[in-house]
Amino acid sequence: MSVPAGPAVLELDRVVKHYASSGGEVVRAVDGISLSVHAGELVVLHGPSGSGKSTLLMLAAALLAPDAGAVRFQGRDLATLAAAETADYQRRQIGFVYQSFHLMAGVPAVENAAIKLLADGVPLRQARRAAMPWLARVGLTARLDHTPDRLSGGERQRVAIARALVNEPRLVLADEPTGSLDSGRGAEILSLLSQIAREQQVAVLLVTHDAQAAVVADRVCALRDGKLLAGVSELAAAAPVRWRAAS
Ligand code: ADP
Repeated sequence: MSVPAGPAVLELDRVVKHYASSGGEVVRAVDGISLSVHAGELVVLHGPSGSGKSTLLMLAAALLAPDAGAVRFQGRDLATLAAAETADYQRRQIGFVYQSFHLMAGVPAVENAAIKLLADGVPLRQARRAAMPWLARVGLTARLDHTPDRLSGGERQRVAIARALVNEPRLVLADEPTGSLDSGRGAEILSLLSQIAREQQVAVLLVTHDAQAAVVADRVCALRDGKLLAGVSELAAAAPVRWRAAS
């Protein structure tokens, strides 16, 4: 697969985030990582539990500030944003997709997908209308008014993807999006995210330990102990993807 020519949306530049453990030792959760994700590209960050994936996603979402280095969105250092700008970045520029979907119980799929618009004060009819094409895109036209309890796991994750995209963010951060799905449904979700990255020219950063993700990724970065590994990891055997530690 070729790397899309789109501009860098997210850049991590020698980012460091250390924690103090309860025993007083330093935990090098993210230890000098440089990585960029471009418009139209799906980058998979693969690593075992404790390797720093969640910390890295939180840094990308400006939910944590780095101890050193810079996290940039469309060229702008997130550390320079005022509080209101950070909130705006999180609400409007990022779409989040979680392992456990985080849909609202008892709320129809189309309104779950529209939730960011509703939170912004868009009237219900208008918000529903705006969410419908996204539900169509994820293959759920026939399920608009189904509540989450009437949807399969894969369908719930499709609603969550529609919700992430409904306000056309430039960046999607996906945290183990296939972790609650069987391998067939998981593969469909990965393929959908890959197609959407290209179609919408959105940058997708996906953290996972699902080996299937390599099949659809434009790039796979392997994370161990807060560092990106150069070269081959166990995922390389799963698919013919190009490996590199950073771009
Ligand atoms: P992953 O998402 O890959 O499981 P994390 O980013 O959650 O990894 O954690 C990376 C390392 O940082 C782990 O050793 C974890 O125990 C440690 N860690 C994460 N959050 C904290 C925290 N708030 N305080 C201390 N250590 C933490």
